[in-house]
Amino acid sequence: MKKPVYLDYAATTPVDPSVADEMVKYLTPDGVFGNPASRSHAFGWQAEAAVEASRKQVASLIHADPREIVWTSGATESDNLAIKGAVAGRQDAHIVTSKIEHKAVLDTCKWLEQHGTEVTWLDPAPDGSISCQQVVNALRNNTVLVSLMLVNNELGTITDIAAIGSELRQRGVLFHVDAAQAAGKMAVDVTSMPVDLLALSGHKVYGPKGVGALYVRRSPDVRIEAQIHGGGHERGMRSGTLPTHQIVGMGKAFAIAQSRLEDEVRKLESLRESFLAGLEPLQGVSLNGSRSQRVPGIVNLSFDGVEAESLMLGLRDLAVSSGSACASATIEPSFVLRGIGLSDEQAHRALRFSFGRFTTEEEIAFASSQIVDVVSRLRAVR
Ligand SMILES: *Cc1c(COP(=O)(O)O)cnc(C)c1O
Repeated sequence: MKKPVYLDYAATTPVDPSVADEMVKYLTPDGVFGNPASRSHAFGWQAEAAVEASRKQVASLIHADPREIVWTSGATESDNLAIKGAVAGRQDAHIVTSKIEHKAVLDTCKWLEQHGTEVTWLDPAPDGSISCQQVVNALRNNTVLVSLMLVNNELGTITDIAAIGSELRQRGVLFHVDAAQAAGKMAVDVTSMPVDLLALSGHKVYGPKGVGALYVRRSPDVRIEAQIHGGGHERGMRSGTLPTHQIVGMGKAFAIAQSRLEDEVRKLESLRESFLAGLEPLQGVSLNGSRSQRVPGIVNLSFDGVEAESLMLGLRDLAVSSGSACASATIEPSFVLRGIGLSDEQAHRALRFSFGRFTTEEEIAFASSQIVDVVSRLRAVR
């Protein structure tokens, strides 16, 4: 069977082949397999040097100091560490987040809410944006943390983190930002974005799954409580033997992302334009999310009169997603689309198409012609 065209880069990306080649050098007896925490021999020292070189590469993409990078198992763990770590030990804490965050943030905040933390759940505007004023209005005397995403994984909408961050900085409220969908897709610069904590993932940027990082600002010094104990690795914030091969993979992937950022953004913009141009024969197609404040690789579309489930069945040659990846096993409408005010019906008519490094113009042309055919056919039999 011919493989479908992969248009689900927002769910995960393949590992860049040059990243995979690098990772293999950190596993086998002839490679650098030592425990980076072993201080008494060269096997450990070499592994530690590799981990530190990767830390620099990840820090560099977001213009951070390498000492501000804490390795984790992925953005889910980074979000948990940031949010629970900021709230830990504070009985009367209040936090602010939005209704369209990734589940890693939503479920963490829900769990805290069940355990006594007050949570304000902000409603985004119809374009998926959260305004600075909304955030400021939600603040209370006991607000310890605001958690918002930089780029929404279903819509591609970009939040104005710099503006919100400067308001929070003035008021001494911690700001956590989930940047899993932003890294490598837009400039992320913690020197101009006043954030305190920022979550990153390896596998959304052509690195391996199972590795991520949390940026923890040093100046002003941000303190969070560890959520995993056992040896005090990562300056006491996250214990556990570091997975050298995973970390080297993420480092290499982030270095590639940094060197190609402008080119990749331009390429993705051009793919998106071709894709949308290819859909022009269809009437009744609407773009969900912001028209202007968006990353180019994610296109979320609603098709009038067509159920996403039937459309996906018809589009067997395309690998796409309805709603978030976690929700695609169920037929619940996407909570993100409901969150921006779409009716159940409208949300059931939406599909997310996401492109990336290995997507070609031919694949895009094939995808849009398939969509035109299948949507037209489904509408004709109604
Ligand atoms: C993928 C993703 C996550 C989860 O990252 P993992 O590394 O898979 O745990 C969190 N937040 C956003 C916005 C994501 O897109």
